[in-house]
Amino acid sequence: MNYIVLDLEWNQAAYKVDEEEEIPFEIIEIGAVKLNDKAEKIDQFSCLIRPQIYPFLLRRTKEITGLRDDDLDRDGIYFEDAGQQFLDWCGKDYIFCIWGPSDLTQLERNLAYYDIRIPWKYPLKYLDVQKLYALQMKEGKTRRTLEYVIGAMEIPVDGPFHRAIEDAEYTAQVFRRIDREHYESFFSVDYYRIPKNRFEEATFYFETYSKYVSRKFNLKEEAVKNRRVREMPCLYCRRQMKKEINWFSDGGHSYFALATCKTHGLMKGRIRIKTTENYDGVFAVRTIKPCSEEDQASIVKKRENLTAKRRERRKKESSAKKARAEAENNKKSAAKQTEKKQKQAGRPE
Ligand SMILES: [Zn+2]
Repeated sequence: MNYIVLDLEWNQAAYKVDEEEEIPFEIIEIGAVKLNDKAEKIDQFSCLIRPQIYPFLLRRTKEITGLRDDDLDRDGIYFEDAGQQFLDWCGKDYIFCIWGPSDLTQLERNLAYYDIRIPWKYPLKYLDVQKLYALQMKEGKTRRTLEYVIGAMEIPVDGPFHRAIEDAEYTAQVFRRIDREHYESFFSVDYYRIPKNRFEEATFYFETYSKYVSRKFNLKEEAVKNRRVREMPCLYCRRQMKKEINWFSDGGHSYFALATCKTHGLMKGRIRIKTTENYDGVFAVRTIKPCSEEDQASIVKKRENLTAKRRERRKKESSAKKARAEAENNKKSAAKQTEKKQKQAGRPE
């Protein structure tokens, strides 16, 4: 299997009103290097693309890439050709290596916009080199820029940054310095296309967490009620665990739960509700991790706070209701009083 190290440059609308919703970022350059299974370079792909949606480069895009409108008009080809050529060049058996998660999504959006058949089946696994670097450096959720990492790894700089083929080369250089045997198991899964049905739904098991991606649901409530979404399999033995705290909402788009495996102990679950690519529904991403006592305490606390908040809101609502009812009563009795007085005084007519 080969590695395709990919980098894209893109341009966008100058004003939000001019944005084409399906394709907010128009690719203007594709750069990629093909590595064999020993991470040795065997080929490269580089091409400029003549824009058709946002015809003028933003000043920011020009500053970052050093490209000018003339360059693209003169040397660029249309994406209909470029996209297809790139896919053909990729070959059959490969995995993408990309700096960060966004280039792959933009590529898929551009391909879809031009009705170029996307050949990848679900799930599309890829290696996010930016994430692998953070893992190797034990930097947790920190994400560095490519420039920073090239500097930190003392990789010689022999071309500009922010041109696709150069950035792809730099990304390949970083990738070669990653302990692949260990970190390749930390692949990412592309969310552009989600499972079509429950048979495509899968749980991916990593060293420190598991991740499950659901199919599309029409509503958030539907997703969260789904039996499969609510499952809590143990990270290690994959048996269903006993729930200690059932799924509860954080009031936003996340849900939390705690469960125990008899053999492997306490674990925490989190469901995140995400909107699908074309805004026609939602899907759930569930992660399960081992849970420390601190984690446990913070989840318990979170639920208590939410319950307290909810109780307070109900109390406020009911006291407001009471106040309204009282005011209504006062009005009624005042009216009755007046009526009574009028009666006592005798009808004037
Ligand atoms: Zn277990």
